[in-house]
Amino acid sequence: MALMSPRLRAEGFVHGFTTRPGDPPALGPTLFQASQVHGSGVLEVRPGDHPQALRGLEADALVARSPGHAVGVRVADCVPVLLADRETGHVAAVHAGWRGLLAGVLPAALGALAGGPRGALVASVGPHIGPCCFEVASEVATRLAEGSPPAVVWKRDGERPTVDLGALAEHQLRTHGVPLVERVNLCTRCHPALFFSYRRDGPLAGRMVGFVAVRAPTGPDHANARGWSRTP
Ligand SMILES: [Zn+2]
Repeated sequence: MALMSPRLRAEGFVHGFTTRPGDPPALGPTLFQASQVHGSGVLEVRPGDHPQALRGLEADALVARSPGHAVGVRVADCVPVLLADRETGHVAAVHAGWRGLLAGVLPAALGALAGGPRGALVASVGPHIGPCCFEVASEVATRLAEGSPPAVVWKRDGERPTVDLGALAEHQLRTHGVPLVERVNLCTRCHPALFFSYRRDGPLAGRMVGFVAVRAPTGPDHANARGWSRTP
């Protein structure tokens, strides 16, 4: 089973966030993944690339532009973000934990996906550890609070601060020009039947995959085919 974003589905993008029992479904498109290191590196998939060759390269975001290609990231508490351009059909998948969000992996991925205007971009923020469960050290909280809206870091007297990574991801996406941001607010740690969780299960926790496939661009022909019918 995989969760889907209503908006990405409406725009015709094959995508999903797998849940605990699920591997990514047998996709028509070829699925590319990289070796994730909690950084801000972006890997661009080129025509003719082979998934096995890219799997060993270090990157936390992948961009694809060729029909027949899909990109994916593995997560177990970190935030999976899927990006899609409704006009070009190009896509990106981003692995964004607190380190990646601080390192700027989202603006790096957005810059690679769409250097110019970003009005056609859609972002879907997948399941991740919620503010209910994501306690951090106070120095981490201080760094994450810098330049963030007040809802990102929560602090009660005598307790460790907690962080809303999804709210931080959404804030960064909107700040960098993405007009449509959807968010799944299901906590991975609170839902053991649905999700793996590093915080709950430890280093042997399994991983979920967020994936999205390149779609054909929308052009005048496409719009005509949808909007008009010809009478004989
Ligand atoms: Zn929780």
